[in-house]
Amino acid sequence: MLSKETLQRLQDILGRQHLLTEPEDLTCYSFDGSGGDIAPQAVAFPETSGQIAQILKLANKHNFPVVPRGAGSGMTGGAVPTCGGLVLATSRMNRILEIDPENMIAVVEPGVITGELQAKLAHQGLMYPPDPASLKFCTLGGNAAECAGGPSAVKYGVTRDYIIGCQAVLPTGAVITTGVRTEKGVTGYDLTHLLIGSEGTLAVFTKLILRLLPLPEARKTFLLLFDSIKQAVDLVARVLAAGIMPCTLEYMDQTALGVIRDRLPTPLPEKTRALLLIEIDGSVDEVRRQGKRLRTFLENRQVMLREAKTKEEREELWLARRAISPATFALKPHKISEDVVVPRSKIPDLVRLTTGLARELELTILTFGHAGDGNIHVNIMLDKNNTNEYSRARQAKKRLFEAVIQLGGTLSGEHGIGTTKAPFLELEITPETMSLMRKIKHLFDPNNILNPGKIFPH
Ligand SMILES: Cc1cc2nc3c(=O)[nH]c(=O)nc-3n(C[C@H](O)[C@H](O)[C@H](O)COP(=O)(O)OP(=O)(O)OC[C@H]3O[C@@H](n4cnc5c(N)ncnc54)[C@H](O)[C@@H]3O)c2cc1C
Repeated sequence: MLSKETLQRLQDILGRQHLLTEPEDLTCYSFDGSGGDIAPQAVAFPETSGQIAQILKLANKHNFPVVPRGAGSGMTGGAVPTCGGLVLATSRMNRILEIDPENMIAVVEPGVITGELQAKLAHQGLMYPPDPASLKFCTLGGNAAECAGGPSAVKYGVTRDYIIGCQAVLPTGAVITTGVRTEKGVTGYDLTHLLIGSEGTLAVFTKLILRLLPLPEARKTFLLLFDSIKQAVDLVARVLAAGIMPCTLEYMDQTALGVIRDRLPTPLPEKTRALLLIEIDGSVDEVRRQGKRLRTFLENRQVMLREAKTKEEREELWLARRAISPATFALKPHKISEDVVVPRSKIPDLVRLTTGLARELELTILTFGHAGDGNIHVNIMLDKNNTNEYSRARQAKKRLFEAVIQLGGTLSGEHGIGTTKAPFLELEITPETMSLMRKIKHLFDPNNILNPGKIFPH
């Protein structure tokens, strides 16, 4: 609980206008992209790592929870103040501190919006590859905490592959720096990569050092339309095995296509049951060569191939792809949204399973996402007020997780565990590993004040 004295002390640290305590303001910080309805007692908007250090010291002294928050677009409840306390919002820490083209790095504060950095880099012929579909509003701090990925992960990898160092404040208030500003570096334990993906439970990122790449010279975007889902998912692993290296290999089933149908630049044939969105980038020559290889590969495979003719057409396709997740709410008011990963060759088994679950449990389940790296978004649509449907949806989620582990997969490819997957963690993590993880948490955060209630099952 935050006492009157503690709130006063927080005001002294932050300045009065940078602390919210009115109920109507607090409501805006009671949920994230997964839902939630737990308001904090206050929301702090620090501007420096020094202020964050003071706040965390205060939290240790008076034992109140502190929940870091970027844009609140997380899909697993990570930024929801489950145990109340103080939300620590990074929106004022939104400066791009440095872009160094010679050494191909950028240094940013955690509240920078991912897409805004990418747009700025593109003007200088540079690229920061991780491209979550939420890039227009999510923050780099949130990306680091969740180890976000996106369509380009199939070729370029995820957030972890592009953060080479950071400044962070530990729950005890100590400010640490980790990692390097160089291409290589193996001095000491790799704490940067321990913090990435730790979901705001081990430290608050206050600066990130990012590795950059040159912006590819050319790009081609293809749509592959299929009359059957099986045909589409069977093809995914084979495209890559054929030596084609796309920078995107996205999949959408018929229901996913249905929710964005009217946003697509050109109407789809009625009989389309599934779609693959494939993009190739690189030098002009490389893109031409890979495009030719793709066309040859698709010959005699009963696939309708379309190519985006203009930059505008390509952008419209991407707008439609990125709109799928929010557009699903046209089907039902709530959903259970999972981002499981299976080995690419097992995607057909996964899709068969979800189709079977939908039929057996009489649910609407749609699948779409980053097929190129086996990361399929499974959205189980429901109305929470319909208790019977909710219970069937939860059953589907449990059976999905069990099957994914059986298939050699993992519970989350990019959204993290948060609160929504915590009860299932033990399906994947052995007791010994779990015990080590708990000890790491305790070492960083002996009083459990930083984002308590996340990741670990109760
Ligand atoms: C429409 C939509 C599409 C999406 N598509 C993708 C996708 O393609 N790929 C993907 O990976 N995700 C996707 N997401 C999920 C989400 O956008 C990502 O998880 C993103 O990284 C969260 O960033 P955020 O700034 O919103 O973080 P928040 O939701 O505010 O926080 C997420 C977690 O990070 C912690 N955190 C935030 N800032 C810090 C910090 N400075 N230091 C320490 N911890 C911190 C929080 O405590 C929380 O645990 C999507 C979400 C939506 C709504």
